[in-house]
Amino acid sequence: MKILRTVADVRRAVAEARGRGATVGLVPTMGAFHDGHLSLMRRARDESGLVVVSLFVNPAQFGAGEDLSTYPRDERRDAELAAGAGVDLLFAPPVDEIYPHGFATSIHVAGLTDVLDGASRGAHHFDGVATVVTKLFHIVAPDAAYFGQKDAQQVLVVRRLVRDLDLPVRIVACPIVREPDGLAMSSRNVYLDADSRARATALNRALVAAEAAVDDGRTGADEVLAAARAELAASGIEPEYLELRSPHDLRELDRVDSAALLLVAARVGAARLIDNRTLEVRSS
Ligand code: AMP
Repeated sequence: MKILRTVADVRRAVAEARGRGATVGLVPTMGAFHDGHLSLMRRARDESGLVVVSLFVNPAQFGAGEDLSTYPRDERRDAELAAGAGVDLLFAPPVDEIYPHGFATSIHVAGLTDVLDGASRGAHHFDGVATVVTKLFHIVAPDAAYFGQKDAQQVLVVRRLVRDLDLPVRIVACPIVREPDGLAMSSRNVYLDADSRARATALNRALVAAEAAVDDGRTGADEVLAAARAELAASGIEPEYLELRSPHDLRELDRVDSAALLLVAARVGAARLIDNRTLEVRSS
């Protein structure tokens, strides 16, 4: 596996692989790899001739008071894990390679970014995501790009920007990878002390309780949200948001008819965690 630092080097390496007829898969990340990241890399490996992983803690998607300066970083460990997952190129640029002096352009996906994490973290968050993802797509020009369903709103924002800007890339959403006790894997889980780590399992339990409510015929949003909220409350967690929305356009839903997305964000100890689950009315 090669580690590359510049846009020019990535373009050269990708062009060389394309010359051999390889298809290209891209996995954008901020590093601190866990099995969630590795699942995306393996999927890309299965489906592509050349696998490129970007490792870039994108300052533009962090707000003032967020964890940019403390975000976990360990490039050597990440490089070993990526190589083990069969990655060909690790693109780990310095900040000024992505945002050169005078950088002044931003991509804004309207509507989808006004709610949930866009409302909680502020508009800059998804502007930062959309801008860096657009840049990565132009730098790498992948056939396919792999994202985790863990960040469900991010997947929808990226799909929309790809559609709106006619970017020739296929977006592949991969399932959420969880710890054995159900906690969704996240680079931010390292912020959890023992007590918070135990309490954090309530997020997944809340989503599972909501699913049980739906299975039970309690499909109204109030009933679904109450089931989830009770699990959170039992662990002393007050969500930043807990909402039932359309998995297609994030429209708020008042009941689970066909598919619905239940999304939660909560501060647990020192970590801000997010999770989600698709709920469906199962025909028996
Ligand atoms: P991050 O490094 O947190 O920006 O994540 C990079 C990619 O990995 C994003 O597409 C995330 O959605 C995805 N990802 C993060 N955690 C998980 C997880 N637990 N399961 C699946 N994908 C994940």
